[in-house]
Amino acid sequence: MRPEIVIWLVRDTCRVDDNPGLKRATTLAFERGASVIPLACLEPRRWSHQQFGMPRNGLHWARFRSESLRALRSELVARGNGLWVSADEPASALNRARQSLNIVSVVCDRPVATEERLENERIEAEGYSVVVSDVDDLFRAEQLPFGLDELPGTFSKFRKVVEKKPGIEPDTPSFTDALTSFINQPWPDPVEWTETADYASSSWTEVRTSGGESQAKTHWGSYLDAKALSHYKHTRNAFCGPMQSSHLSAWLSHGCISARQIWSDTLEYEAREGANESIYWLRFELLWREYFRWYSRASDWTLFRHRGPNDREPSGDQNKTRFEAWKTGHTSCDIVDAAMRELNETGWMRNRGRQLVASHLIYELNLDWRLGASYFESQLVDFDVASNWGNWAYIAGVGPDPRGGRIFNLNDQADRYDPDHSYRSRWLP
Ligand SMILES: Cc1cc2nc3c(=O)[nH]c(=O)nc-3n(C[C@H](O)[C@H](O)[C@H](O)COP(=O)(O)OP(=O)(O)OC[C@H]3O[C@@H](n4cnc5c(N)ncnc54)[C@H](O)[C@@H]3O)c2cc1C
Repeated sequence: MRPEIVIWLVRDTCRVDDNPGLKRATTLAFERGASVIPLACLEPRRWSHQQFGMPRNGLHWARFRSESLRALRSELVARGNGLWVSADEPASALNRARQSLNIVSVVCDRPVATEERLENERIEAEGYSVVVSDVDDLFRAEQLPFGLDELPGTFSKFRKVVEKKPGIEPDTPSFTDALTSFINQPWPDPVEWTETADYASSSWTEVRTSGGESQAKTHWGSYLDAKALSHYKHTRNAFCGPMQSSHLSAWLSHGCISARQIWSDTLEYEAREGANESIYWLRFELLWREYFRWYSRASDWTLFRHRGPNDREPSGDQNKTRFEAWKTGHTSCDIVDAAMRELNETGWMRNRGRQLVASHLIYELNLDWRLGASYFESQLVDFDVASNWGNWAYIAGVGPDPRGGRIFNLNDQADRYDPDHSYRSRWLP
């Protein structure tokens, strides 16, 4: 009889600490006397598929993911395990592994959008038992007092419920060192690792980061030590400076650190330094992230259609010339051009920049909002399906916005958040 194996499927969660999925896999394995094999799939759909003629994930994202997976592998090796990396989609990788392994369960994070949901269905259709965990959410599904079909239609309503109702709070982060059953197991071979040669050549210059759990913790620790959290609310929209906002998004999107951990650290910081609205505001933004995750699950495929989840006809065409000008930073608006050039070079853009370039694409260039969302998807180092498509739909007025869309006055915004032109001079020399 071959030994039983529980697969921990690493989807977008490249960390060991505070990882309910990994904990679930090790507990399941312990109960059955089985072993855990962590498996990450590079998912060809991310590389080979295109949307509106654009690649799905670009080099910035790929570099960060590659670094994060390598760091995860080191963490796992240090704990006597390892990471099996497959170049396939999960269902195919599992089927190949099944030829030599007795897989009894596949543990993964709760799907956040249509593709992940369909992937889980494919895995189940192959006869595997799939166990889902709320790995990267603040709240577990069972804590929320509404099902997906009753999810509040706006962020404000969602926030009021989760902030006011007792019993809805993120679990305390937990550390895997306490687990007992994360043990050596028979190791399948070959361990595959494919990557594009260009991974290493892309750079994120503004705030230099690299993927991985320890990098995330170091960065977040420095942000707290510098007490930048104490002024977060007042600086988060400014266009220049590394400590203006937390710059956590890439690590959160690749799951190198958990949102629960950040949440809990802000509470500790508050107890130490005294409460102020800036500290609360970071939790407020994490609630936006949370809301978009549940909104994406509730909207499923409608999040990606032109009419959006609201089923409302927006204007906008797919004119190539106007889109090319926007993409390359050659519109007639300097703040938009600067932000787009920053995005192209670094894979990152601050939140206010994202809002302004989206508003410009939708309301001034009169383009289909999905072109912008797809371009962001192909460029962002922190691409996250729920936050990206949710924010775009929101600004386009086809998502969860009670005001039916957001139009920004670009000149006012530029004067306010880049008053001395230093940001624009930096990117438009
Ligand atoms: C059009 C558009 C597309 C976006 N696409 C993405 C994306 O693909 N991936 C992504 O992580 N964020 C996305 N955002 C949200 C936000 O712009 C980034 O999370 C933020 O700029 C990252 O910088 P930071 O980590 O310094 O954020 P901070 O201001 O320090 O916020 C802390 C964390 O809160 C979360 N957060 C903050 N603002 C938002 C928001 N509006 N929506 C959801 N979560 C938020 C992020 O996880 C962020 O890291 C998008 C916003 C817009 C307007």
